[in-house]
Amino acid sequence: MSDETVGLRLDRDDAVLTGVESRTSSPVRISRDATSLQSLNVRGLYPCGEGAGYAGGILSAGVDGIKVAEAVARDLT
Ligand SMILES: Cc1cc2nc3c(=O)[nH]c(=O)nc-3n(C[C@H](O)[C@H](O)[C@H](O)COP(=O)(O)OP(=O)(O)OC[C@H]3O[C@@H](n4cnc5c(N)ncnc54)[C@H](O)[C@@H]3O)c2cc1C
Repeated sequence: MSDETVGLRLDRDDAVLTGVESRTSSPVRISRDATSLQSLNVRGLYPCGEGAGYAGGILSAGVDGIKVAEAVARDLT
C-alpha cells in the first residue's frame, strides 16, 4: 500500500493548504509544595496542568487536575 493510498502524503499537488501539527511540552515549571500542591511563594495558588509544567498530554493533565482538586478540597476542610 502506498503512502498516498493511506492518505499520508503531505505534498499533494491538489492540496490548497497543508498544515502540519506539532507541539511541545512546557519548558518551565512553577514550583509548588509537594504536599499542599500550593505555589511556594503565592499562597492559595495551585499551579497545575500543562502550562505550569506538570503535564505533557491530556491524560497527565487530567490526573494532575484531580490531584490538585483533592488538595484544594483538603485545604478547605
Ligand atoms: C495541536 C495539539 C495537539 C495535541 N494532541 C494531543 C494528543 O493527541 N494527546 C494528548 O494526550 N495530548 C495532546 N495535546 C496536549 C493536550 O491538549 C494538553 O496537554 C492538555 O490539553 C493540557 O491540559 P491543561 O488543562 O493543562 O491546559 P489547557 O487544556 O490548555 O487548559 C487551560 C485553560 O485555561 C484557560 N485560561 C488560560 N489563561 C486563563 C486566564 N488568565 N484566565 C482564565 N482562564 C484561562 C484556557 O482558556 C484553557 O481553557 C495536544 C496539544 C496541542 C496544542
